[in-house]
Amino acid sequence: MSSTLTHRISDSRPDDATLRAAHVVAVTATADTRLGGAHRVRLNSAYVTALELAGLVPLVIPPLSSPAAARSVIEAVDGLVLTGGEDVDPELYGQAPHERLSTVNRRRDETEIALVQAAREMRKPLLAICRGPQLLNVALGGTLIQDIPSCVPGALDHDAEGVHDVRDVRAHEVAIEPGSRIAAAVGETRIQVNSLHHQSILEPAPGLRVTARAPDGIIEGVESEDPGWWAIAVQWHPEEMSDSPEPWDRGIFRAFADRLAEG
Ligand code: MN
Repeated sequence: MSSTLTHRISDSRPDDATLRAAHVVAVTATADTRLGGAHRVRLNSAYVTALELAGLVPLVIPPLSSPAAARSVIEAVDGLVLTGGEDVDPELYGQAPHERLSTVNRRRDETEIALVQAAREMRKPLLAICRGPQLLNVALGGTLIQDIPSCVPGALDHDAEGVHDVRDVRAHEVAIEPGSRIAAAVGETRIQVNSLHHQSILEPAPGLRVTARAPDGIIEGVESEDPGWWAIAVQWHPEEMSDSPEPWDRGIFRAFADRLAEG
């Protein structure tokens, strides 16, 4: 950890009272075999950093063998963060696999769908990122575009990682609906975002409102229509922008923390 980051984290925790009051949030992770052949739980550390900078305590939740355990997880935490990762299995939204479908992880899908259902039932705030809005949408009955380059002619390049090999380049604009929860969180209605995805929401699920779009029409943000359930979902990666000169992305984590503080 850099000395700058250590300094900033300590700044966000001025005293013991703040530490005692810290809210704990479940953060979903994956498990794969890419490291030396062993099955390992994996989460990009940027999520941990961004949540800690907002004063939150991340509790990492891997794919579980019993989705029913998701209820126990949600009972134990104050909120839920859905993170980036694999494509959602298209069988879960009634489509045959497209030829450009990437890796799927059915156990992770089922665990996260159960987490979403429990969070909605218990009205626990939810922040969803990248795969997160896609999973949230499928969990609530919506569908996905399986591969933007081959399914949406003329679409912008939404998968900048292959071109730039970096995760924090602002790649395209997003227009955000004035008055929406996402607009309140970022503090603007027109921002530039990083973009590391080849899928997106096609038909929004009942109960979700589209409040952010790229200039090509691709859905970049949705949020819960239920005033009693705070849930926002963004297609970009605010967790990679903790050091950005613009406050927009840190505002998303701060809005989540503020909602948790309201109880
Ligand atoms: Mn994008």
